[in-house]
Amino acid sequence: FANTDAGEEVIFGENSLLQGMTLAANIGSPGDLPLVRKFKAQGIGLYRTEFLFMGEELPSEEDQLEAYRQVIDGCSPHLTVIRTLDIGGDKKAPALNLPQEKNPFLGVRALRLTLRRPELFRQQLRAIWRASIAGPTAVMFPMIATLGELEEAKESLWTAREEVLQAGYEIGSLQVGMMIEIPSAAWLADKFAPLVDFFSIGTNDLTQYMLAADRENPELAELNQPYHPAVLGMIARVSQAALQKGIWTGICGEAGGDPLLAPFFKAVGIEELSMAPGSLAKVRTALGKMEMSAEEQETLVKSVLACARTSEVIKVLQSSKTT
Ligand code: PEP
Ligand code: MG
Repeated sequence: FANTDAGEEVIFGENSLLQGMTLAANIGSPGDLPLVRKFKAQGIGLYRTEFLFMGEELPSEEDQLEAYRQVIDGCSPHLTVIRTLDIGGDKKAPALNLPQEKNPFLGVRALRLTLRRPELFRQQLRAIWRASIAGPTAVMFPMIATLGELEEAKESLWTAREEVLQAGYEIGSLQVGMMIEIPSAAWLADKFAPLVDFFSIGTNDLTQYMLAADRENPELAELNQPYHPAVLGMIARVSQAALQKGIWTGICGEAGGDPLLAPFFKAVGIEELSMAPGSLAKVRTALGKMEMSAEEQETLVKSVLACARTSEVIKVLQSSKTT
């Protein structure tokens, strides 16, 4: 593995924690592709498609197809994970004319919205199917709280596939995944796992919903920490359930780009960390420099999960850097 952030090439040992870990990028548009290349991402773990929908006018199926195709093509031969529309909460789309809500982060957001707008949803899903011939592609659904929502989303996905085929377009294959960012879904990970190819843990929302602390309120920044032992315990539980059912798990929230957490994520069996492209070099270096036996990794996980306080977790993670 090469660390090219400062131009120099550093080759990390074969036994380092980088082994078996994919380091991918989070992007918001095809315009981010140069950064994906510059920082040598091994895939796109989160393509936030909502930015296409935030303008004065909604994008057509063809507009979407073009954007998705460019991203998939630019990222190939690596995998691009396209997240379906996550409007609501902090992300506004004036062209959708949505009613004001008292608690937008607890409201009709993301999949809750697209399930209520089947035409809008299927149009996006058709564009994703059509773009999937450009390279390895996955689709993932945000803000799932119940099995019924996932089943409904997958039904729309298969209907969209039929529509695309009937219209005579070629399609590729799609991995189908879901975000784990609501505690109810995290808790039921073993029930969700047989229905998807992968999980992607959204630590930004998972933390905000587990600690009931608005992720945008600076007054609550102290509280809104992925280092909280309950959040890390939940992540370990999700990863364990995924491993047992034979699917892979990635992290695509901000915590995925945190070098202090990366060894813990590796130790609990996370297979992909997806982050802002600018974080790739430091996470690659942090994992690359560390060699830990399976026993040492197990000890790290046990020590973190034994903690009762965020401050204790941070101490354990910091001390593991030097072991
Ligand atoms: C998350 O919640 O961690 C996530 C990756 O999604 P977003 O930040 O776009 O809500
Ligand atoms: Mg989220």
